[in-house]
Amino acid sequence: MLFQPYFVDVLLPLPLERQFTYRITKEEYHFLKIGMRVAVPFGKSKIYTGIVYKLHEEEPQAYEAKDIYQILDDTPVLNTEQLKHWEWIATYYMCSLGEVLRAAFPSVFLLESETIVLANPNFEESDVLTPDAYLIYEALQRQSQLTIAQVVNILSKKNVFPILKNMIAIEAVHLKEEIYEQYQPKMVTYIRLATEWEAKEKLQELLALLSRSEKQRTLVMHYFMLKTKSPTPIKKKELLETSGISTSVCKGLENKGIFEAYEIQTDRIVFEEASQRIPTLSTHQQEAFHQIKACFSTHDVCLFHGVTGSGKTEVYAHLIKEVIATGKQVLFLVPEIALTTQLIIRLQKFFGDDLCVYHSKYSQNERAEVWNHILTGSEKAKIILGTRSATLLPFVNLGLVIVDEEHEASYKQFDPAPRYNARDAAIVLTKIHKATILLGSATPSLESYYNTKVGKYGLVTLTRRFGNVQMPKIQLIDIKEKHRKKQMTGHFSDLLLKEMKDVLDLGEQVILFQNRRGFAPLIECETCGVTPQCPNCDVSLTEHKFKQELRCHYCGYHRAIPKQCDACGSTDLNSKGFGTEQIEQELLALFPKHNIGRLDLDTTRGKYGYQKIIEAFQHQEIDILVGTQMLSKGLDFKNVSLVGVLNADNMLNFPDYRAHERSYQMLTQVSGRAGRSQKQGNVYIQTFNPYHQILQQVTTSSYEQMYGEQITDRRNFFYPPYYRIIQITLKHKDFNLLNEGAEWMGKSLKNSFGKNLLGPTAPSVSRVRNQYIKQLIVKIPPKQSVVATKDYLRKLRVMFEAIGRFRAIRINIDVDAY
Ligand code: ADP
Ligand code: ZN
Ligand code: ZN
Repeated sequence: MLFQPYFVDVLLPLPLERQFTYRITKEEYHFLKIGMRVAVPFGKSKIYTGIVYKLHEEEPQAYEAKDIYQILDDTPVLNTEQLKHWEWIATYYMCSLGEVLRAAFPSVFLLESETIVLANPNFEESDVLTPDAYLIYEALQRQSQLTIAQVVNILSKKNVFPILKNMIAIEAVHLKEEIYEQYQPKMVTYIRLATEWEAKEKLQELLALLSRSEKQRTLVMHYFMLKTKSPTPIKKKELLETSGISTSVCKGLENKGIFEAYEIQTDRIVFEEASQRIPTLSTHQQEAFHQIKACFSTHDVCLFHGVTGSGKTEVYAHLIKEVIATGKQVLFLVPEIALTTQLIIRLQKFFGDDLCVYHSKYSQNERAEVWNHILTGSEKAKIILGTRSATLLPFVNLGLVIVDEEHEASYKQFDPAPRYNARDAAIVLTKIHKATILLGSATPSLESYYNTKVGKYGLVTLTRRFGNVQMPKIQLIDIKEKHRKKQMTGHFSDLLLKEMKDVLDLGEQVILFQNRRGFAPLIECETCGVTPQCPNCDVSLTEHKFKQELRCHYCGYHRAIPKQCDACGSTDLNSKGFGTEQIEQELLALFPKHNIGRLDLDTTRGKYGYQKIIEAFQHQEIDILVGTQMLSKGLDFKNVSLVGVLNADNMLNFPDYRAHERSYQMLTQVSGRAGRSQKQGNVYIQTFNPYHQILQQVTTSSYEQMYGEQITDRRNFFYPPYYRIIQITLKHKDFNLLNEGAEWMGKSLKNSFGKNLLGPTAPSVSRVRNQYIKQLIVKIPPKQSVVATKDYLRKLRVMFEAIGRFRAIRINIDVDAY
């Protein structure tokens, strides 16, 4: 064969420093374009999907280039702007481009030899399958799963990806990591009286009318009884169950037009016609809207600081409408999809199927479809709503990005790489597309606010709630004093209890916040002081009473609650501290007639766990909802007039330089759930330390003052936004080896960075899943080159990994580790 000098550099979804070069034919060379996928061999026997990164005629020096197996696309699946953005992420966050690729692509795009294929038990059209596909289908009837390497064996050919791609498209098979969320909307039927019969005075007339049907009379009486007991809507199911009367009787009343059945659904994300016009903005909103637009003429980034309930969503909606009208795409980032259902439903009503949602829990096919719509600039993907990985999508004509709740910590990915902050990555994305970006929050992050002060970002503020609803009144309760005066019942002060009773009597709802799940953080032996620890991690186990378990919140380890102390055998074991579960138990005893709900990681594990609880609370089936910080995420409940914080202190005392900022944000956000209708809401915060400046600032909504004090601390103690922070984490099973590695790293870094190196230290939880952990923090002063610092760290990592015995130590580098 004549030697043909045509090569392609392929980007593989692996943590490799460089792209790999493969040999191609002249025809392939002319056909391939950057961004197309190819199947390639790698290592001894692996197959990967890679991306064409560069076409050239230079033979690699270090190794013999292999041939590619197959071309998988006719047209590129990514675009140059996107690649440019990924390259920025890889460089800035010090990871490989392959790791960004892995995070960005739906896994159905990246078939590889290790991918696991499962049969779809509901697939029935096996007669449409090609002979090869049928062989795979048949094999999957005999064994539950196959790796792609096994498929290669079964078909005895290397090029199996196209066959599998088709089988996935027609849903003959699934990929293992898919989590199917076929969303079943839950419809609840409620019963109410027709308007003409609603008034109490009409009751006699109505009963007379029904004089000939004893059962219908009874049911109507029963309805009135339920209605007087509680003003909440009455479920049909409940009405029938508590009265013992059959459906047909109820149907009869519905036919007569006395009862009306109606359905409520709040939990569905389906894509249909827009059903609601975007409401006209209030004067204040209108002003903010114009200011934002004016701001974009001088700044690419604008921070929108609008208090809770100011109606930021409606302002966003008007901006989005204008941008999509010009034919441009809009990216709407949210911190977490599950906690954002209410918001998605609202936007869906405004935009119908112009809005599409992209996130990792959706089926592979759906994600692939959204990807393609965006890439081709299709009508179906005008507004893309998603979590952080949505910043990695193939936008072609991006006009605007909105980052809702920009202060949220969940925009930062910690593990695995790329350890990026999606808000910051989105800012770079808009620069690439020459688009604009709006960061919205009621409690902006210190770094964003700082950027407005130094003129980098524009700032627009909205200080009033929509409809002139008043901001809640926030009061502090000194529980040290309450304890002294014996005015505490369990974890409740007399004042909070009284307020709760009053509010509940009016048929209004209460939210209680406790920033810790479980029953108690730990149990302690009163005799010897020993606390049961996790065998795999360096933490105490948390008590979960309902399950009678002690649990580790880091690795999931659990054991039964011991009857005796492990160390001394004493039976005198006591709970210390308290979590949401304990509060729930106390509430059951204190408010036996009311429905209590709990919202935390433990109660929301199931697929729709979170939605179910939120929905029940919205329908007023729950009177008191106790929960962790999940409660602070942008929820809008009209009937909540009281929010109680059981203990503000553990948050404030958390050993982290952001603890104060975060506490301010969290407390302000939870408080913002109160009083979202005409009546002013009340917030009570229980604390041992009512003079703490952060608590004072929360009660007076003094964001500006909080900012001023915190930013001064940051400057004085050399923290962001003044100094940058890069955190290096080392992990290994062997404590001594890890120590040795950490010392080596520490010495080298000390030589270069002096006092700007912190550590090596063990973090507060210094062992997780049997891996010991050491951390080093490099602080970069404002005048030091960030690029040069990172280059140096890269070199140091290579040197470290070249030391034989250190090779097994895992190194993670986290840039802007906050
Ligand atoms: P934020 O996100 O700023 O906390 P929301 O967007 O949730 O505030 O708005 C608070 C409430 O006010 C919501 O129930 C919303 O539907 C309502 N609202 C806001 N703006 C308008 C408007 N222009 N017309 C009608 N209702 C509005
Ligand atoms: Zn003991
Ligand atoms: Zn553990």
